Amino acid sequence: MPKISDALILWYNHHQRDLPWRNTHDPYLIWVSEIILQQTQVATGLDYYLRITKKYPTIASMAVASEDDVLKMWQGLGYYSRARNMLATAKIIVDNYQGQFPCDYPGLLKLKGIGPYTASAIASFAFHLPHAVVDGNVARVLTRLFAMAEPIDSINGKKELDRLAHSIMDVKQPGIHNQAIMELGALVCRPLSPQCSSCPLNKMCQANSRGTQELFPVKNKRVAVRHRYLIYMYIEQNNKVYIAKRTDNDIWKGLYQLPLIELPHPIPQHEINQSIALAMGLPEPALTAQLLHETQHQLTHQKLHLTFVSLQLHQDVNQCHFLKNYEAIDKQQLHGYAFPKPLVTFLFAH
Ligand code: SF4
Repeated sequence: MPKISDALILWYNHHQRDLPWRNTHDPYLIWVSEIILQQTQVATGLDYYLRITKKYPTIASMAVASEDDVLKMWQGLGYYSRARNMLATAKIIVDNYQGQFPCDYPGLLKLKGIGPYTASAIASFAFHLPHAVVDGNVARVLTRLFAMAEPIDSINGKKELDRLAHSIMDVKQPGIHNQAIMELGALVCRPLSPQCSSCPLNKMCQANSRGTQELFPVKNKRVAVRHRYLIYMYIEQNNKVYIAKRTDNDIWKGLYQLPLIELPHPIPQHEINQSIALAMGLPEPALTAQLLHETQHQLTHQKLHLTFVSLQLHQDVNQCHFLKNYEAIDKQQLHGYAFPKPLVTFLFAH
């Protein structure tokens, strides 16, 4: 169906944003940009892309970085498994592939953190291979264009999206076609109030002709959101602050945090002291907790209710078993560690 692709590419040639990863066929730079943009808006991701590729201009330079350094560069972007997988993949490519990305789709798919979307993006942008990308923007355009009723998060819906995406692609220009449909979804076929009057596909679009644009894409019911109640304790002694690296397979793995207790339910302010003492295995008079800040942080399937307290211990800190898993670092060194965004806000903006 070249007509759709022709219209998309013509529109793209006049309306595309000038973004640095579009001026290269280097698979490394394309890969970095695609990993950043998987869960991040272009406006936010651009600055991270420029800083990360300045610090690590080649895959070889990234491969020798420490996880702490990469996570520090990633700080604030969220979905930190992306950064850990990126580092792991950089090392694998340098160690096992002579520093060169595989130049075919199946080879790319074998790499850690690279799924069908990213493999298609690298294959088409860097190697001109006819693999159609389907991200959220593309799914929105396709489901509206063809009035696709199948939920896009069902197995059949994903298959159908892939089929439609390939059916409209100009196989002679896969890279620019993919860029064009992604850009149309980002700039014109927006989730709310799509700009159909200025859309190059408006005469062919079934949802536009029926006025049903905002009914698409169809999705199955959302997963229930899990509420978590976290109390972070700022403990300062002799100009040192206690922190630890998160190592469990949980959110924010690999980042640093203040001493933490997690409770199964919210607690009233007057019970904070008692709850912390209980969680730390101390008698209540052994500490004084002062409430400093409360906030909430939304993740994809979790809502975090965060409480920050300043904690004074009225006993020898070295006797506190709870703090054995934390290290005391100079307060001035806090800036050198990667923390999750809400902790960055608490530590450096208060
Ligand atoms: S006509 Fe409207 S709904 Fe259809 S693809 Fe264009 S912007 Fe999206």
